[in-house]
Amino acid sequence: PTSLPAPPPPAPRQPTAEPATFVPVDRSPEIQEARLKLPILSEEQVIMEAVAENPTVIICGETGSGKTTQVPQFLYEAGYSSNGLIGITEPRRVAAVAMSQRVAKEMNLSQRVVSYQIRYEGNVTEDTKIKFMTDGVLLREIQKDFLLSKYQVVIIDEAHERSVYTDILIGLLSRIVALRAKKQQPLKLLIMSATLRVEDFTQNTRLFSVSPPVVKVDARQFPVTVHFNKRTPLQDYSGECFRKVCKIHRMLPPGGILVFLTGQAEVHSLCRRLRKAFPCYRGSARETEEKEDSVEEMRKFKKSRNKKVPTALPRIDLDNYSVMPVDEGDEDRESEMDEEDDVMGSDLDLDLGDGEVEEEEKPDASLPLHVLPLYSLLAPEKQAQVFRPPPEGRRLCVVATNVAETSLTIPGIKYVVDCGKVKKRFYDKVTGVSSFQVTWVSQASADQRAGRAGRTEPGHCYRLYSSAVFSDFEKFSPPEITRRPVEDLVLQMKALNIEKVVNFPFPSPPPMEALVAAEELLMALGALQEPQQTGRLKQLQGEKLSRPISPLGRTMAAFPVAPRYAKMLALAQQHECLPYIVTIVAAMTIRELFEELDRPAASEGEEAQLKGKKARVSQMQRLWAGQGASLKLGDMMVLLGAVGACEYSACIPRFCETNGLRYKAMMEVRRLRGQLTTAVASVSEHATSLCVDPKMKPPSEDQVTFLRQVVLAGLGDHVARRIQSEELLDAKWKNGYKTPLLDEPVFIHPSSVLFRELPEFVVYQEIVETTKMYMRGVSAVEATWIPVLLPSYCHFEKPLEDPPPAYCPQTGRVVCHRASSFYRVGWQLPAVQV
Ligand code: ADP
Ligand code: MG
Repeated sequence: PTSLPAPPPPAPRQPTAEPATFVPVDRSPEIQEARLKLPILSEEQVIMEAVAENPTVIICGETGSGKTTQVPQFLYEAGYSSNGLIGITEPRRVAAVAMSQRVAKEMNLSQRVVSYQIRYEGNVTEDTKIKFMTDGVLLREIQKDFLLSKYQVVIIDEAHERSVYTDILIGLLSRIVALRAKKQQPLKLLIMSATLRVEDFTQNTRLFSVSPPVVKVDARQFPVTVHFNKRTPLQDYSGECFRKVCKIHRMLPPGGILVFLTGQAEVHSLCRRLRKAFPCYRGSARETEEKEDSVEEMRKFKKSRNKKVPTALPRIDLDNYSVMPVDEGDEDRESEMDEEDDVMGSDLDLDLGDGEVEEEEKPDASLPLHVLPLYSLLAPEKQAQVFRPPPEGRRLCVVATNVAETSLTIPGIKYVVDCGKVKKRFYDKVTGVSSFQVTWVSQASADQRAGRAGRTEPGHCYRLYSSAVFSDFEKFSPPEITRRPVEDLVLQMKALNIEKVVNFPFPSPPPMEALVAAEELLMALGALQEPQQTGRLKQLQGEKLSRPISPLGRTMAAFPVAPRYAKMLALAQQHECLPYIVTIVAAMTIRELFEELDRPAASEGEEAQLKGKKARVSQMQRLWAGQGASLKLGDMMVLLGAVGACEYSACIPRFCETNGLRYKAMMEVRRLRGQLTTAVASVSEHATSLCVDPKMKPPSEDQVTFLRQVVLAGLGDHVARRIQSEELLDAKWKNGYKTPLLDEPVFIHPSSVLFRELPEFVVYQEIVETTKMYMRGVSAVEATWIPVLLPSYCHFEKPLEDPPPAYCPQTGRVVCHRASSFYRVGWQLPAVQV
């Protein structure tokens, strides 16, 4: 294994006239005219000269100045696709797809030539010259071909967003560019950013020994008048947005309105209120009646569930994983950026809503308003609507989360209403416990949002907070990599033989605690091994952080999911359980499979409707979880049941609608299942079930037991033990669980099917802190499995011996009978030592 080369020496000046051939592009006159209005066009010469003379160039320009759509065209015309691809990475899927379509259209080329690749899909062909992709896709390609030999240019777009993968890519590319120069096959690197905060890239000598040149594009931005509120509303910013939009719409001249809110539920609720206040049709069209239930689908699934699949069940064999390195296949990891602004804890939103009693506007059909929602989990066709001009005589009003801040530019916006908040996921550095918090945006974000009003003419931005509050905002928000667990990144880096992750040239390094936690988790999962050379005691933290990857780790790194889930996949081929594990992993990976039903309702009628749906959905979930053995698999069984029943149903969209499942998410699960099956099959000789048939039989009872063990093997650091009544220290621990790392009790989330079951030991997918610390995605485990499957998490008083230890309910300990020695399991409360 090699570690990364040292920072490159100052790059030699490259010859100016590098690409020889000019490639003509045949654009339509309208497109040509629109292009000429973009500020970046006047900088074409400067950019192309900088690119010709330097291996790395940074381009800074306001959102909407034309970076994403025009720079790839400049490079194409200048012949930079003569013997390699022009690749552009985006942190958001929405942007990768939309931009490839837009550029193809502008250049009058087909999507065979200007293509995109995102996690689940793409349209890249052998004719592709310009390839838009998510940053995660490029990171995976580096794993297969470190030199990126297919590419002549790589553009890292939206670098200001500082997505984790973008940061890592910039670190890696700084080295790849140097290596390619040595090999006389120069690779050009362009970093594009909307705000002028590029010091992390330019002033970082570990990254670039010579600062790359920065080309600034002066935006032809019209002046935007910023109006601050006198006072800052404490809670009801959504209601404040509503009042502001009503005023603008009634009193101000034509021009689109863009509202920034924090989450999907709020977006919907404001859209409904606005549509009601300014209807586009008299007696607004009733939404299609929902069919009451899907008895038929349910019956079909239940019937098939009862058929037994004959299998003998030896227990899970932890050493029986498949480890042949993958070299083909196109699994891609995806950044989480897409989801970040929309995910939410179900009970978080209740107190944010606009539910308070307040005089509603009288419907005013004389002033129709064309209201559109925009957030990243929205179906793509609906997302595309915002680019179309509104119907004659109606004002456009887009209610968005921060997707509209920089990645998409909506035409015709003159007024921006900014609530000043953003919903973010925060993680505890050590325990990984996450919570969603609505916080103030940074000053840079607030200015970005305001800037959206001045694209086509002078505009106005209404900030729903005072200027005093604004001056307390932080200047920039800290990069994502410093805020979240990094085990997936560490695994990817180790797979690239970067053993000393601490030495990696991060634009902003993650905190040391996060790196240590990641390395420990990967070690416990078996993805890393102790270094070969023994000798002096390795006590230094720096040394501990340099373990090489194990063969199992290599296999895990090839699966496009987080390490805990990758471990489950590595064990998946046993007992014919591949389809089930693949399904569980896919469903756990896709965020928000179930619709958000705890959202504030717009009216009483809707409230009743939501309530009814919620009851029906939780009834279905209990049904999917089943009884007895299958119920013990808990929420993972619900996922299996939901996917299984959905695939058996005749009409999937309707099935999803009735059962509170997000159709888009179910389609992603389906694609990911196909992709994961292929990935596992390619490393396993035994994985015979290559079929990617979405339908599957329900698992047998024995298989369910095996599935629970696999889930435990992957989520080993997420075990919790219920506090027994005699151990209750304090009333707050009632029904609480103890975990190894937390001092506070955690609870099973009320939405879990195990909420009332309260099993003795459970594993959970994640802990989310809202009013309490809640475990979500819960499955019951047997105490006896723990010391066998997770010895590294247990404290043993004597060495582990051969016959499997047993759990003793009287003492709450795990006992090995033959040696009659006691095993104390690590997550016992200190108070119950015997
Ligand atoms: P930047 O990357 O600098 O933010 P873009 O290249 O994304 O700028 O956008 C340049 C211009 O192209 C913007 O004015 C935007 O409105 C326009 N544009 C981008 N995509 C589309 C689209 N799908 N339809 C119409 N106009 C678009
Ligand atoms: Mg852009």
